[in-house]
Amino acid sequence: MSTEEGEGSLPTTSKIVPSQNYRSTWEVSMKNPEQFWDSMARELHWFRTWDKVLEWNPPFAKWFKGGQINASVNAVDRHVNTWRKNKVAILWEGEPGDRRAITYNELYQEVNRFASVLKNLGVQKGDRIAFYMPMVPEFPAAVLAAARIGATFTVVFSGFSASSLAGRINDCQAKVVVTADGGYRRGKVIQLKEIVDEALASTPSVQKVAVYRRVGREVSMKEGRDYWWHDLMKDSKPYVAPEPLDSSHPLYILYTSGTTGKPKGAVHSTGGYLTFVHATTKWVFDVKEDDVYWCTADIGWVTGHSYVIFGPLSHGLTTVMYEGAPDYPAPDRWWQIIERYGVSIFYTTPTAIRALMKFGDDLPKKYNLNSLRVLGTVGEPINPAAWEWYYNVIGQARCPIVDTWWQTETGGILISPTPNLGIMPLKPGSATLPLPGIEPEIFDEHGKPVKPGEKGFLVIKRPWPGMFITLYNDDDRYKQVYWSRFPGYYYPGDYALKDHDGYFWFLGRADEVLKVAGHRLGTIEIEDAFVGHRAVAEAAVAGRPDAVKGEGIVAFVTLKNGFSASQQLREELKQHVRKAIGPIATPDEIHFVSLLPKTRSGKIMRRVVKAVASGAEIGDVTTLEDGASIEEVKKAIAEFTQSLGS
Ligand code: ATP
Ligand code: MG
Repeated sequence: MSTEEGEGSLPTTSKIVPSQNYRSTWEVSMKNPEQFWDSMARELHWFRTWDKVLEWNPPFAKWFKGGQINASVNAVDRHVNTWRKNKVAILWEGEPGDRRAITYNELYQEVNRFASVLKNLGVQKGDRIAFYMPMVPEFPAAVLAAARIGATFTVVFSGFSASSLAGRINDCQAKVVVTADGGYRRGKVIQLKEIVDEALASTPSVQKVAVYRRVGREVSMKEGRDYWWHDLMKDSKPYVAPEPLDSSHPLYILYTSGTTGKPKGAVHSTGGYLTFVHATTKWVFDVKEDDVYWCTADIGWVTGHSYVIFGPLSHGLTTVMYEGAPDYPAPDRWWQIIERYGVSIFYTTPTAIRALMKFGDDLPKKYNLNSLRVLGTVGEPINPAAWEWYYNVIGQARCPIVDTWWQTETGGILISPTPNLGIMPLKPGSATLPLPGIEPEIFDEHGKPVKPGEKGFLVIKRPWPGMFITLYNDDDRYKQVYWSRFPGYYYPGDYALKDHDGYFWFLGRADEVLKVAGHRLGTIEIEDAFVGHRAVAEAAVAGRPDAVKGEGIVAFVTLKNGFSASQQLREELKQHVRKAIGPIATPDEIHFVSLLPKTRSGKIMRRVVKAVASGAEIGDVTTLEDGASIEEVKKAIAEFTQSLGS
């Protein structure tokens, strides 16, 4: 992808001018950041106002120092004292088709009762609680209950293995685990309780387990340790006073998904995090009182924390929550859900869009998608071809696409269009411009800003309220991974460029940049070029050592239905990529595969691709934990290498 002539991108002429409102808001936030964030924080409920907006001892930040706040109050209490009391908070749909509508008042009751349950189980302020739950309404309720009493929670995605779960529980020494007897996924029951039991064989910190009955199956309950949710609720109290917590109190620990290495426990604060998530939900999604908002992320990911729970509930929105797979029982399930609830804001991932795009335009066209107003994506760069489809077929060329760049570590969105601050011209494939308060820059390897249009390393030049406050129990790793590459600046580890209009384009992970004959190429640049060809569904690119060029380009490509692998297509693709980027990017090897190895969040397992491309010992890869068990990684590698045959 190049901003000048890349597939589907608009010409870069420097005539693009973002709305005056956006520009002035951003400028004000730069000129007087403390006053700016002070006014944003005042949109929330605080027990005590802060003495100082920011105490910055690089790289450690304390936002709203002296302030006291509680996340559950901002999500539910605030609304039950208004007309929103009986407004629907969650429109829930289970995979088998069961449905529930939960009002703010009902959610409030559930949060309070479960908070008292947690207290009865011995949980105190500062203790850690782990969640291993299916996507049911009780999940956000229990998360808010933990926040209400000041327990720090960690959510482990319910697709992760027993060993990953145990590793995370042990890292944070969780005292209580909340799980269920199962959850539905593609028509099957995921046996969550069995996985918890296996994990708990090696987690001495866990004293109690609460088990929500979702499926109604027999599971083993260990006497004195395991309790049914509904039994615990019988002894619950209807009201638990929310704990006034210091703004810096750790709200949660979230282990990053592990696309690139051993999980890191990102710790998020309460006051700064909530302020940032509240503000970004408004700016990016342009939320209105009567919106029906749907973020498809599982609560196991940071997107689910920030934009399923805290952001939308803080605004008193009605949000849709769906338990299962997008293609069950058929790949029109999501379009059906949008029609059924009249979803107006829809936020998902590029992987999901590419997967659903494969089934063609007719499927979404069978549904009434006229309620949609804003579309969003997160998790990876969205390639221009998928952007166009999302824009034209799903959004019917009426809805802006907010391509949101952020990370587990950043707590919320940093770079994205902001429809709430006025219309800004979009460029397919670019996450566009920084949000107010965010000052990104592109550095060369020596820490000097590069010229517009030149590639380099993204840095964020000043702290923002949503930033993680450290890695759990590992201040040194926090400093080393994120703050030492360019001292004084936050280093997210992404390779990117800023074009002549100031728009940001993400080119791949910084540690995967290829150096071919002295030129640096991001993996995404090459992958986008592949996906711009009509035959290609998905592509993964990695480097392998090359005696002459430094690195050679190896590509793994899956084809769309109706195309088959051939030497001729291989040559055609080589020429196509060469033409799109330049002779330097001519791929050395193209392998047609039937699938790519993916993480549970749908991202390509980059380390696996790299190892296979460079012929490294695959055994090395399997020793790196990434949320999947070693068996699962091995299976992914085996399937991937087997499909390499063609
Ligand atoms: P790990 O850090 O454990 O390797 P991860 O980085 O995949 O895992 P996340 O925090 O979920 O875990 O993902 C953040 C990363 O995803 C970003 O650093 C960036 O590389 C990529 N990303 C997210 N959103 C976008 C986007 N809109 N455009 C481009 N890249 C994105
Ligand atoms: Mg990361």
